[in-house]
Amino acid sequence: MAKITFLGAARCVTGSRYLVEADGTRVLVDCGMHQERPHRERDWEPFPVRPDSIQAVLLTHAHLDHSGLLPKLVREGFHGPIYCTAATREIVQIILLDAASLQEEDAEFKKDRHRREGRNGAHPEIPLYTQFDARACFPQLTAVDYGQPVALGPNAEAAFFDAGHTLGSAMVRLKVRDGGEERTIVFSGDMGRPGKSILRDPTVFGQADYVIIESTYGDRLHEPEAQTVSKLAEAINWTARAGGNILIPSFALERSQEVLFYLNRLLMQNAIPHLAVFLDSPMAISITELFEQHPEMLDEETRGLIRAGRSPFDFGGLHLVRTVDESKAINHIAGTVIIIAGSGMCTGGRIKHHLVTNIARPTSSVLFVGYQASGTLGREIVNGSPEVRILGQDYPVRARIVQFTGFSGHADQKQLLDWLGHIEKGPRGVFVTHGEESAAEHFAGLLAEKTGWKVSVPEYGDAAELK
Ligand code: ZN
Repeated sequence: MAKITFLGAARCVTGSRYLVEADGTRVLVDCGMHQERPHRERDWEPFPVRPDSIQAVLLTHAHLDHSGLLPKLVREGFHGPIYCTAATREIVQIILLDAASLQEEDAEFKKDRHRREGRNGAHPEIPLYTQFDARACFPQLTAVDYGQPVALGPNAEAAFFDAGHTLGSAMVRLKVRDGGEERTIVFSGDMGRPGKSILRDPTVFGQADYVIIESTYGDRLHEPEAQTVSKLAEAINWTARAGGNILIPSFALERSQEVLFYLNRLLMQNAIPHLAVFLDSPMAISITELFEQHPEMLDEETRGLIRAGRSPFDFGGLHLVRTVDESKAINHIAGTVIIIAGSGMCTGGRIKHHLVTNIARPTSSVLFVGYQASGTLGREIVNGSPEVRILGQDYPVRARIVQFTGFSGHADQKQLLDWLGHIEKGPRGVFVTHGEESAAEHFAGLLAEKTGWKVSVPEYGDAAELK
């Protein structure tokens, strides 16, 4: 009997990792890092199964909460292929090297602090993995085209389909045979939003025996794109009048390119003043270049613009900031500037230094354009915390805080339901994952009520037989 085990993104949004076993074949779908506080410890635990007993990894996309434990998996003995799309293969290398160097810095920082505090050896002072470990897994990254079937052994076959969530993102259809029975399992991965700019729409499926569906926004509807863009213009204009700076904490992959895309559009419409814009993230800069190198993966409009040499991710007044010195120099500029920097949830990176300079200024604003997981500095700020701790010091929050949900790269409740509605004969089971507990539960309840299907919200470590 084929079996699935939920090794992450179970009643939380990070740490996506699912093990499928059928007739001796073991396949892992995603191998992500937990980024929410109480669950982060899990990343340090040994793998629940021996890594050398897994035949292949299917990687839906490059985001760290889906890919971040690959270097550890390989270091601990996994030597099979890691299948993903060509764009994901390029992006994930940038993301894993960055993650590894942050792990290394973090470990050094902790070691220093523990030494000062006389707590030598307090856990964890070693990085979860190093840049060396990250590089060691690159040769196993194996590119496949959308729709191309990949044999994973005598009894398992996979194919990737456009998920419309990030450049190169995929949904995975896995066919397994066990005891003479075939089962089709569809993993939504992170599902994008139909009709959204830049990327193509998510693929729909007419048949599936089992579905593993994300539920990040399973309890909410997004505001329409036009409303989000006018809210962005309003926030920028307000801050320009007040004379402060505009900080946009942003993920290097996808959200940074979207912000550039919309800023470009607003500038062309003369809806915002021509301020200097700093993309203060070497990683976001490299990934933006990949968008321009892979127009075939983008929607028709964006593809056309890039092929005509008018990249929507570039405009007059945009400065690409690569070095730390250049980044620091931004703080000395008088007058309003727009700073886009990582990390998206303010858990690390250059955004922290810009927050230190701006968070206590009532004339500045911080625009949150991405999801803020619980237990992160970003979440604390959007929740209205009057004071926050950044780099070991407390600061009052006086800047204007604006939260946007309309930029989300995830389908909302209605879009998730519509996507499932394409499956003609009801699936044998639906597992709702990748959502905070309340969102996942709410979505599961709604889906079961509307369809009468068997819907469940697995716990971390739960296993289910795919009967
Ligand atoms: Zn994602």
